Amino acid sequence: MKITIVGAGAMGSLFGGLLSESGNEVYLLDIWKEHVETINKNGLWIEGLSGDRFIKAKAVTEPKEIGVTFDLIIIFVKSYHTESAAKNISLLVGENTSILTLQNGLGNFEILSDIFGSEKVIAGTTSYGATMLGPGRVRHAGIGPTIIGELNGQTIARTEKIAHTLTQAGIKTDTSNNVLGLVWSKLLINVGINALGVLIRVKNGELIQGKYSLRLQRELVEEALEVAKRKGIKLVHQDMVKEVALICEKTITNINSMLQDVLKKRKTEIDFINGAIVREGERLNISTPVNQVITDLIKAIEEAYKKQI
Ligand code: NAD
Repeated sequence: MKITIVGAGAMGSLFGGLLSESGNEVYLLDIWKEHVETINKNGLWIEGLSGDRFIKAKAVTEPKEIGVTFDLIIIFVKSYHTESAAKNISLLVGENTSILTLQNGLGNFEILSDIFGSEKVIAGTTSYGATMLGPGRVRHAGIGPTIIGELNGQTIARTEKIAHTLTQAGIKTDTSNNVLGLVWSKLLINVGINALGVLIRVKNGELIQGKYSLRLQRELVEEALEVAKRKGIKLVHQDMVKEVALICEKTITNINSMLQDVLKKRKTEIDFINGAIVREGERLNISTPVNQVITDLIKAIEEAYKKQI
């Protein structure tokens, strides 16, 4: 398969590297010049769960350096870059191109659908994890299910083919007729963990140890549940509050990605997580005060990066 990865950071490099290793024609597209140059010069270094090795890979900073259309484009920029990245890749999108998002948060498949048409877009979730170590170097940090599906809930041959290609690359992938439910269920997990972990500055496991953090987690998730229910989303877990607590237990020593961003004074995906619940709530006239406050607090932290004592 001819594949471009748009946003070859931690996840994009990992997926791109594995897909390239398994015989696909892969291009990594990223605006980070030093990373792209290092990959082209030395190869892409992947270490961790799938072994330590260099993978030969092709990387570019601009779509015009490739100039042809692809079977599959996987979007792995941070959610706040989805729109600008997508608007830059029209050269690579042909009649039969599928565009897959496995990003976290809510809003990505909507942005991609607006730009390319919803029939081109496939969404999904992945429990794979990766960490950027430096230019050209990434750590494979997590393995878990990857599930993809058509936005209209139908089973279509192209989704099966893409799932097969990912599975052959070692990324075990299933298809689902309820991808909206999957994306929302992962969203609710991030709603209950990420921003709270930032504000309390703790690893996931600690969030369910404290009386107040546990109460806040429940309130965040219950507000989001109300929004999901009104939208008619079929969540994949019966009891999401319990599921979020269970995930904290299973990932006891994890420093969540938003906390990692804040510790490095980087922009977070808050607008696509708790902020998305607030936006959807407003549209439906559902009040989400706890998500609103936590969104504002994270944005206040981002605002103050340069002034913090
Ligand atoms: P990252 O910051 O490591 O990588 C994003 C890359 O996008 C960067 O290298 C950046 O230079 C590049 N980029 C920015 N604008 C671009 C543009 N216009 N065109 C091309 N490239 C551009 O992020 P990540 O950790 O790989 O996360 C990507 C997405 O995957 C996020 O939505 C995240 O929530 C989700 N996710 C991450 C993990 C993880 O373990 N890291 C796991 C599951 C899901």
